[in-house]
Amino acid sequence: MNLVLMGLPGAGKGTQAERIVDAYQIPHISTGDMFRAAMANQTALGLEAKAYMDKGELVPDEVTNGIVKERLAEPDTDKGFLLDGFPRTLDQAKALDQMLKELGKKLDAVVEIHVPSEILVERLAGRYMCRNCGATYHKIFNPTKVEGTCDRCGGHEFYQREDDKPETVKNRLAVNIKSSEPILSYYKDQGLLQSIDGDRDIDAVFADVQKIIG
Ligand code: ADP
Ligand code: ADP
Ligand code: ZN
Repeated sequence: MNLVLMGLPGAGKGTQAERIVDAYQIPHISTGDMFRAAMANQTALGLEAKAYMDKGELVPDEVTNGIVKERLAEPDTDKGFLLDGFPRTLDQAKALDQMLKELGKKLDAVVEIHVPSEILVERLAGRYMCRNCGATYHKIFNPTKVEGTCDRCGGHEFYQREDDKPETVKNRLAVNIKSSEPILSYYKDQGLLQSIDGDRDIDAVFADVQKIIG
C-alpha cells in the first residue's frame, strides 16, 4: 500500500499514522519529523529548515523534494509507505509523481482527514509528544493513560513543539489551507482522493481509515 495522508496541521495525521504503521507494518515518512530530527542533530538541512519552521512557513520545495526522494529510494519502502505532511504544494505533488515513476511505483490512495480550522487551534495548543518514541498526546482529548508515562514506550519525558504556539499556528493554518486546495483537486481528478471526517474520536477516524486501506 502506497499512501499519502493529508490534512491541516492538527487534523490527526500523526495520530492516525502511528496506528496505520503499527497495523500494516509500512514505514511512516513524515517530512516534519525528518526536519525536526535534522534540527535536533544540527545538520545543514536542519539549520536551513529551522528558519522556515520557526515562522510557520513551508521549507522550499527543492529541499523538501530532495529528502523525500532519498527516503523513497530506501528498500524498506518496497512493501509500501505512508507519506505524512508531503506533498504540501502542487509542485511537490507533481515532483512526487515523477519520483514514483522513476522508482516504478504509484500511489494507491490519498486519505484526507478533514477537520474545521476552528477546532485545530485548540488541538495544537494542547498537543504534547513523548521525547523517546514520538507518540502524540493531547492534554484534554487524548492524555496518557497513566499521568506522566507514555502508553507506547513507558517513557517519562514529554515536550511541546515550538511551532504549536498560537502565534505560529495561525500562520501555519493560513499557509496550509491555501496550499492544500490545489493538491486535493489534483488527486480528486485522478480518482485517488478519499476524504474522511476527522472531527470525531480517534477510534472512529481510524475505523474509516481501515475501511479505505482494506
Ligand atoms: P503539522 O502538520 O503539524 O504542521 P509538520 O510536522 O508536518 O506539522 O510540519 C512542521 C513544519 O515543517 C511545517 O510548518 C514546515 O515548516 C515544515 N514542513 C513539513 N513538511 C513540509 C513540506 N512537505 N513542505 C514544506 N515544508 C514542510
Ligand atoms: P497532525 O499530525 O495532523 O498535525 P496530530 O496527530 O499531532 O495532528 O494531532 C494534533 C493534536 O490533536 C494532538 O494533540 C492529538 O493528540 C489530538 N488529536 C488527534 N486526533 C484527534 C481526534 N480525533 N480528536 C481529538 N483530538 C485529536
Ligand atoms: Zn513513548
